[in-house]
Amino acid sequence: MRDTFLPYNQPHLTDHEKDAIIRVLDSKWITRGPQCAAFESALSEKLAAPVVAVSSCTAALHLALLISNIGPGDEVITTPLTFAASVNVITHVGARPVLVDINPRTGNIDPEQVERAIGPKTRAILPVHYGGYPVDMKAINRLRDAYHLTVIEDAAHALDTYYEGRPIGSWGNLTAFSFYATKNLTTGEGGALVVPDAELVDQVRTYSLHGLSLNAWNRYSEKGSWHYDVDVPGYKYNMTDIEAALGLVQLQKLPLMQARRSEIARHYHHAFAELPVILPSEPSNGQHAWHLYALRVKAGALRGDRDDIIEGLTQRNIGTSVHFIPIHQHRYYRRTLGYQAGDFPYAEEFFHQEISLPLYPGMTDGDVNDVIAAVTETIHAWSR
Ligand SMILES: *Cc1c(COP(=O)(O)O)cnc(C)c1O
Repeated sequence: MRDTFLPYNQPHLTDHEKDAIIRVLDSKWITRGPQCAAFESALSEKLAAPVVAVSSCTAALHLALLISNIGPGDEVITTPLTFAASVNVITHVGARPVLVDINPRTGNIDPEQVERAIGPKTRAILPVHYGGYPVDMKAINRLRDAYHLTVIEDAAHALDTYYEGRPIGSWGNLTAFSFYATKNLTTGEGGALVVPDAELVDQVRTYSLHGLSLNAWNRYSEKGSWHYDVDVPGYKYNMTDIEAALGLVQLQKLPLMQARRSEIARHYHHAFAELPVILPSEPSNGQHAWHLYALRVKAGALRGDRDDIIEGLTQRNIGTSVHFIPIHQHRYYRRTLGYQAGDFPYAEEFFHQEISLPLYPGMTDGDVNDVIAAVTETIHAWSR
């Protein structure tokens, strides 16, 4: 057994990131400026669509709803198997989140259930690419076009997820990415919104910086002017140059980091193939970003449950996490949306079975083997 605790997640940070941040500090221009612009164009080149860098994925989702004019009286269809942020933002604009169940194989929203939930108040669909597995975007975009809806993709897990040969972010929808500390690319805190409609890009920028007239962000530079005008009561959602500098370095090494993630996932697949567990499925028409390795404990196959396995892994010095407590089980949403336990049986079962294993580029082969040994021992210890 390993004698030090293996954390569930750790960002991949090297001297390159340190140097980039120090250069920004030395320049004395530390908030939104040239690094943000460079990060936006690098990301926009990768995704072949315009991108606005913001302070978080949550901010990006909120801005997406705002510029789509979604508000009181409107409904937005989303998944219960997500982080609170995806649904909180719907509440922030005064709209009503409508949950529909997942496909139990992938953890993603089921387009057939989405279609059944579409009603006269439905304005948008907010799918989440769970763990980095691509949502069936053709089916979702078909519903978008048939019912004149907006699609806002929560791609917090899906930087470098591909679907039918194209990256998530290039499917013609408002798409929000997260660069939070645990995500596949990190800027500490940060996010980006892909805005496929060029006319809306300026609106997103304005909303993301107090609603100030464009380019007011450089009002302290020699090219700027002290003058600004407030177009709308906007938000303070801009990225900073310190974060963007970090992001540029991370973007350069993203292919290497992603290759290591899939390598680790392959090791896990191979090692766990004979255990009484459910392995995360792989898309046949795309590429998984392996943000999560969501192992699931089969109901009835063991003497214990998911929590017993997590306990066994903790005792063996392996950190884990669980994604996600379904939205309708949280107190606020129980109270306001009126859903009951049992309303989304697939999402509930997925949650009860799921364990997210350590999966990040900085893991050594020894770390990977330690996880494999600990999982194998623990599952055997609880086997019937
Ligand atoms: C991390 C996460 C978010 C929020 O991202 P932030 O950048 O922290 O705002 C939203 N949705 C999902 C599914 C996430 O995992």
